[in-house]
Amino acid sequence: MPDKFKHLRFNSLTIHGGQKPDPSTGAVMPPIYQSSTFAQMAPGEHKGYEYSRTKNPTRHALEESIASLEGGKFGLALGSGLAAIDCILKILKPGDEVISTNDLYGGSYRLFKQIFEPFGIQFHFVGMGDALSIESHVTENTKMIWVETPTNPMMNIIDIKAMSLIAKKHSAILVVDNTFASPYLQQALSLGADIVMHSATKYLGGHSDVVLGLIALNDPELAKKLYFIQNASGAICGPMDSFLVLRGIKTLHLRMQRHCENGAAIARFLNQHEKVAKVYWPGFENHPNHKVAKEQMKDFGGMLSFTVKGNSFEDTLKVISSLKVFTLAESLGGVESLAGHPASMTHASIPKKEREKTGVVDSLIRLSVGIEDIEDLKEDLDQALQTI
Ligand SMILES: *Cc1c(COP(=O)(O)O)cnc(C)c1O
Repeated sequence: MPDKFKHLRFNSLTIHGGQKPDPSTGAVMPPIYQSSTFAQMAPGEHKGYEYSRTKNPTRHALEESIASLEGGKFGLALGSGLAAIDCILKILKPGDEVISTNDLYGGSYRLFKQIFEPFGIQFHFVGMGDALSIESHVTENTKMIWVETPTNPMMNIIDIKAMSLIAKKHSAILVVDNTFASPYLQQALSLGADIVMHSATKYLGGHSDVVLGLIALNDPELAKKLYFIQNASGAICGPMDSFLVLRGIKTLHLRMQRHCENGAAIARFLNQHEKVAKVYWPGFENHPNHKVAKEQMKDFGGMLSFTVKGNSFEDTLKVISSLKVFTLAESLGGVESLAGHPASMTHASIPKKEREKTGVVDSLIRLSVGIEDIEDLKEDLDQALQTI
């Protein structure tokens, strides 16, 4: 990042972090450098770019941007959130153990269990609501602790600072999947994480038009390993997708403000609705980890879940199918409001008994509250709930 921008605050960094007018043309927005290779003046003598898997100017601008937003020294961009997670896990070796939250993004769980476990890495999935209880799972082979907070879809909050103390004590690397919060709400590196990652497909991109993953960190040795894996394994993102996320990031702070405002209003609206049993949202004072959420997050975000009274599968499907402004879809974090039914969508592959243990009952609906007019969102939820 140019030195003149080093002192900037978060909202300014979303616009200027890692970005400067293009040196060859003065283009204000980093151009889409749709080129696989770059001319060399003499063998090995070049302008910083040789081949786009290794380094591409548009992707590089995005990598600088995420580093600046997370308060990190280094940034990496990859082809998807899962490609970013895959890159991070490849620093491990057979025999290493990972302690992960049990209420984890399904795709991460699948990658851990079905790709990395057969390569000899062992995963322990544990509840992390009480940070101290995880120490009993630490062994001499524990090399990584994997945290996702808030969690999906139950909106549990994990204390990042407390987890970082345990990780440091046992020389394990603490990784935080910061997708649900975005760097606007939560800066995991400053809370003690060694590596923070994002599915930029969600809030950072913000417009449901791109799939991309991002990583930020401070440690130069770890960064060296990750850049090596990024280039050697090659799961990079293209220049067009990098451009789209850079463009999305420029309004992250504005969008997040409205997501939080609308999220809070919908949580309170549903909480007093006669057809609703329970609302899961970390902004409520009676949420089990409200205090931690308040400490480590700037606000409570646009994600929430609720259960429909009566716990009937059919009634819940009727409600969710009657929504008109909310779109029935997977994913989250875009400008448009989305609704999902975990029991039949994201969590359908988990046996009913297992999913119900973590709270994913038949009547649970998850909302990604968008930035539409709040009255339209409330009216939509109300008319859908009135169908039962
Ligand atoms: C979507 C998501 C991912 C995976 O990201 P992709 O971009 O879909 O590969 C990982 N973690 C969380 C919390 C997510 O929501």
